[in-house]
Amino acid sequence: MARVEARPTIQLACTECKERTYTTRKNKKNDPNRIELQKYCPRCRRHTLHREAK
Ligand SMILES: [Zn+2]
Repeated sequence: MARVEARPTIQLACTECKERTYTTRKNKKNDPNRIELQKYCPRCRRHTLHREAK
């Protein structure tokens, strides 16, 4: 079932340690698919690729 989210809040998880470090709001118009961002991970203590986590 497709659920319409009025306010799509997503979590960004580090792809290396799987820590969910960031919460952001997704712009569905700009990012219809899963988004990936370079973010600083405090656990890895460096910038890693963060991916949208459900
Ligand atoms: Zn990490």
